[in-house]
Amino acid sequence: MLNIVIFGAPGSGKGTQSDKIIAEYGVAHISTGDVLRNEIKNETELGKIAKACIDEGKLVSDELIINMLAKVLDGYGKDIKGVIFDGFPRTIPQAQALDQLLAERGEKVSTVIGLEVDDAELVKRIILRGQTSGRSDDNEETAKKRLETYHGQTQPLREFYIQQGKYARIEGVGSIDRIYGDIKAAIDAVK
Ligand code: AMP
Repeated sequence: MLNIVIFGAPGSGKGTQSDKIIAEYGVAHISTGDVLRNEIKNETELGKIAKACIDEGKLVSDELIINMLAKVLDGYGKDIKGVIFDGFPRTIPQAQALDQLLAERGEKVSTVIGLEVDDAELVKRIILRGQTSGRSDDNEETAKKRLETYHGQTQPLREFYIQQGKYARIEGVGSIDRIYGDIKAAIDAVK
């Protein structure tokens, strides 16, 4: 199976590029952000907790996220070509949990696509996206908090995956097609 982690700060293009990867490689998509927004829409207990975190630009607890991810993964069964993990893992414990969940299924992370974009560009993109996304966290104030969270808690994962030899650095500024071309080359190298 092709198990791809798409990694990068908020606004780095993970969602846009995930759509292209799914169309080409036929992998299933797990976006923890989308799952949480759905929980909020359905006004579940998890949704209530998630909303408070999302609006503050903070992360939902590892325990809740890992349980949620395990359920979504189980829901896909065994007959899938692979999975693209979008917005997960965001902490070292989440990455360790992912390794364990995949190992239990005889699988492992195939590659980590790291979209690298500078902070000023990220804030600009998030504000622009906020004009159409309807997301309560796509505004300048929350974007800055989300970036702080990213640098503090998520960026250490870059080193974690570099050490495992799994990190494919992708320049995340430029045309969508050029960026996708680089991603495709990285995926084909491990296929
Ligand atoms: P995203 O759509 O990936 O930008 O996620 C939106 C928000 O959902 C984040 O700012 C977090 O509050 C929460 N979230 C999404 N994925 C995770 C995760 N893996 N761990 C913790 N919180 C998450």
